[in-house]
Amino acid sequence: METEQQLDTLQSQFPEVDKDVLLELLITFDGSVEQTKLMLEEQFGPREIKPEIKGKSPTGKRKANDEPCVLTKKKAFSQRQTSFKVSKASANISTTLYDKEQIETMVPYLRFYPNFLPESLADDLLDELLSKRAKFKDKMFHIAGNECHSNHQSTVFYDGDIPEQRYDNGLYRNSKCMAQSFTGNIRTAKFLIEDQANEVLATTKRHPLQVQSEWRASMCVGNYFHTNKNNLDWHSDRLTTIGPLPLICSLTLGATRIFRIRKQYGESPIYNIPLPHNSLLLMLPGTQEEFKHCVPSLANSLLAKHPRANETRINLTLRMSRPHLLSNTPSCPVCRSAMTLRRMYKKPASRGYYFWLCDGGYRSGKECPGFYFADLSQIEKPRAKLYTRDVKQATRWLAEDDHEARIATEFHMEDVKD
Ligand SMILES: [Zn+2]
Repeated sequence: METEQQLDTLQSQFPEVDKDVLLELLITFDGSVEQTKLMLEEQFGPREIKPEIKGKSPTGKRKANDEPCVLTKKKAFSQRQTSFKVSKASANISTTLYDKEQIETMVPYLRFYPNFLPESLADDLLDELLSKRAKFKDKMFHIAGNECHSNHQSTVFYDGDIPEQRYDNGLYRNSKCMAQSFTGNIRTAKFLIEDQANEVLATTKRHPLQVQSEWRASMCVGNYFHTNKNNLDWHSDRLTTIGPLPLICSLTLGATRIFRIRKQYGESPIYNIPLPHNSLLLMLPGTQEEFKHCVPSLANSLLAKHPRANETRINLTLRMSRPHLLSNTPSCPVCRSAMTLRRMYKKPASRGYYFWLCDGGYRSGKECPGFYFADLSQIEKPRAKLYTRDVKQATRWLAEDDHEARIATEFHMEDVKD
């Protein structure tokens, strides 16, 4: 069922609920009309049971073998319902932002440009990437020793020759063949995106930790969502090659999917941003530090198919590698493995400190305790020691509105662990 039909079904049963609210709830429940309806029934009372609702028999009695699953789900709905009653924009309920003004007002770290590229370039780029589907691979990672695969496919493009020393194996292990050079179309798009990015950066205050030169996209991570079942879990983008306070430019091609964003810490509203074909989203410096984002799977609720790509969405994320960061990345003091650059955010008193954590454990499924604080004061130098054991030497960045962290004093080392 398309989203519009699902909304009509819900609207006919809950005429007292605003259509925007219904859409938000539908997205919150991953496009399930039935789950949305159950939640609404708890809030507004039971409605006539229609035979077309999945999982229910025409008599309105649930099939016996559905029961345990439904009971578990109902419990979750009650919890969500509480937050719904308190405030639409707090806790777990998400708010959908539909246009540039709403997006940039509610999340000032973002800039949104619909129909960004010339139409023919966007279409050519989409066709070219669709034809390269085989080059996009599963990402592999370990959780508690188990090998896991991402539920979408990725590839990495580099501007010019593929560099000898690069970090994409940190995200895309065992897949060196995946790296590709920018194509002509990607390079043309890159020039237009760079102009837009530099225009925006010129209007904002540049932090000493940011790239001090013009912003140039040296690499591009491409994500391939073949159908609306493919998703990308909550995360913030790794800082290891792009450094602190990066700018990331995300171009969407093909089907419209929801991009979801929330703060890393505290009670945070969740915002849904529908990203249509040929829209550009800039994640300004500080976005990766303060927010996490995801692309949820929306069973049955793809927002809009694309005439040629159908359910497929391809997303190009342009990034600038910091020139000397990779060659100055420290090795783990315990096992000599590569380390990854991260930022603490959980406890106010330790929030904002950058640190290096051993990545060796992540690879083999075993934990390695290798740790340094990051001292990024020399990040622009070709040769520099970017680590320290002394917290007083460590680099820290706090968001301007993070008053909680500015007044907190009791430092917590436990913030190091995810
Ligand atoms: Zn280690």
